[in-house]
Amino acid sequence: MGATEAFLKTITEAIRPDRRIGIAEWSEKHRILPESSPEPGKWRNERTPYLVGIMDALSGQASSVTRYAHDDDRPFDNSRVITVGLMKGHQLGGSALGENFVGRCITTAAGNILAVFATYDDAEKWEMDRFEPMRSSTPDLRRRVRDAMKKGSENTKLRKKFPGGLMNLVSATRAGRLKSTTVRYVLLEEIDEYELNVDGQGNPIDLATNRTSNFGRRAKIFANSTPTIKRRSQIEKLYERGDQRRYFVRCPDCGSPQFFDWHKGMRRSPDDPGVVLYYCQTGCGAGNPESVWKTRGYEGAYWMPTAVGDGRTASFHLSALYAPLGWRPWSDLMDDWDAAQTDTEKMIAFVNNALAECWEDKSAEMKWETIKRRAEPYKLRTVPPGCLLLTCAVDTQNDRLEAEISGWGRGMRNWTVDHVVLRGDPALPDVWNQLDKYLDTPITNQFGVSMRIELCAVDTGGGRTQDAYDYCRLRRHRGVFAVKGAKDKHKPIIGRPTDQDVTVKGKTYANGVKLWPVGTDTAKNRVFGALLADEDREIVDRRMHFSTDLDDEYFEQLTAEAYNPSKDRWDKLRKRNEALDLKVYNFACAYHPRLRLNAYQDSDWAALEALIEPRVQDLFASVPARGDAAAEQALAETTVVEVETVAEVDGAAIGEAVGSASDRVAAVEAPVPQGTWIPRRENWLRR
Ligand SMILES: [Zn+2]
Repeated sequence: MGATEAFLKTITEAIRPDRRIGIAEWSEKHRILPESSPEPGKWRNERTPYLVGIMDALSGQASSVTRYAHDDDRPFDNSRVITVGLMKGHQLGGSALGENFVGRCITTAAGNILAVFATYDDAEKWEMDRFEPMRSSTPDLRRRVRDAMKKGSENTKLRKKFPGGLMNLVSATRAGRLKSTTVRYVLLEEIDEYELNVDGQGNPIDLATNRTSNFGRRAKIFANSTPTIKRRSQIEKLYERGDQRRYFVRCPDCGSPQFFDWHKGMRRSPDDPGVVLYYCQTGCGAGNPESVWKTRGYEGAYWMPTAVGDGRTASFHLSALYAPLGWRPWSDLMDDWDAAQTDTEKMIAFVNNALAECWEDKSAEMKWETIKRRAEPYKLRTVPPGCLLLTCAVDTQNDRLEAEISGWGRGMRNWTVDHVVLRGDPALPDVWNQLDKYLDTPITNQFGVSMRIELCAVDTGGGRTQDAYDYCRLRRHRGVFAVKGAKDKHKPIIGRPTDQDVTVKGKTYANGVKLWPVGTDTAKNRVFGALLADEDREIVDRRMHFSTDLDDEYFEQLTAEAYNPSKDRWDKLRKRNEALDLKVYNFACAYHPRLRLNAYQDSDWAALEALIEPRVQDLFASVPARGDAAAEQALAETTVVEVETVAEVDGAAIGEAVGSASDRVAAVEAPVPQGTWIPRRENWLRR
């Protein structure tokens, strides 16, 4: 051993604290939360008591807050635990666990650490927002890990040296990085966001954990995630492989232990709907407010396994219902729950983020006959009441174009207003001329208002890409834009556009065509989520409306695909699926920055309603020739009288009415004049 090595060894020994210090103890002793955090200062385990049992398992230490059985309070033996899986809701302080784990590993200086994130960006973000603030505010870490920004520190953003080891931050998208070194500790952040198979070399979780095999039981792996879709979810698999620990609190009235179950016990108070109560499920049945459960009920609370598991995996379930007092209250969650009753997207978010449960995808069970049976007796090319805005989607095939006009109303209710096939090769102008004519023909609603198509998405992914670009380029002022299904999974319904027209020097033309990527799998989730949820709804509450004019083929195409959880992709069940693609691209129109219907508030819809569905009560327009005065009066009060002349609504008028939406419009293809929602332009359907 050389002098330098000997010196380093001495130093290392000197700063090495008690090897047996657990993560919970380390956090309380050493961790300082930065000023930027919601509760800065010393870490206090009592603030989030439910995290202690998880840290005990991850430390491989006996836990006094974990039980074998309700009546067996001997300290729980965690010595065989290698992997800890946490299936968690949002806003519980759960992400601090990974930081504490890493912090303790660094100070015990006992081996290399691999921290894995869904993407490279996530890794960088974690370093910047989580690790670096912890490092710089915690003296115990500052001594050991030198600032990556300082010259000569040898550290980079994604590689941290410390006495006794090295921490690498990697993305789960690169197999090479996951396989490179032998490590003792692995942190797997938000594993449900990982790809299932990376570079054809297998699951990134397996690739990373295989690195620890040399360490046997001394290895520790911590995986956490908010769950996503049932049977696809990685954290659900890990949870089921483990001993499925639940956090038991005591009924403030009878003392009976139980874990919070939203569906069973959470209700609004019958006396005051603003107050939310949890009703004791295993004892007396009494309801108590959050403040009582989280004080008296939390006294002596503990984790307890509810399954046998594989003996090496401690798995934990933690819903947002457990968040400390002063964080997100139950009443907020109840408001979200109520709002989610008519909105599938919100329900999926609630189930995943609040309840920490998987969303069950049932797209494969969707039958076309079921949807056809729900069709309503409105004619195609008519605008049913409630339908306030029109968009169009065009699919390009080598011998035809297919187009669907969708209508949109409050809460993003969707109507199929029209569906046509235009014959002709898109390489030739004829079929595009037909499309122009189709888009130019106005549709008048039953209030006499002539409605134009606000946006039109043209799919350029078919065999006639250049022709589709040429069409879109010349009509962007009319709201026609080019789309293509995104290559990657789990992308937003509509992403950032890219320039497609480049000069010989490689620069982009200012007025060139832009291509908007569409997260087709995300959109399909939305479409199917809405279709499935409509099953139990009255017509007025349905999200998706169809005309009885649509033929069987339409409905068969609409349900032509189903989500395959084991492959995490949408599989075609039949060849033709244009109707589904068109619905997806109409959703892309709705989410386009020029419309952003998803961000509409009630007031925005109301303003639009006042324009599109003016309920004119004109006593003179329909005076009955004879009849009694009472009947006349009743008629005047209750019926909607049609306006005789065709009113025309242009973008400027809508812009003024929905002016409040203007500040929400973010990146818009063309600069939008201040104070308008849709660029002031002539109604191009009127030309
Ligand atoms: Zn009770």
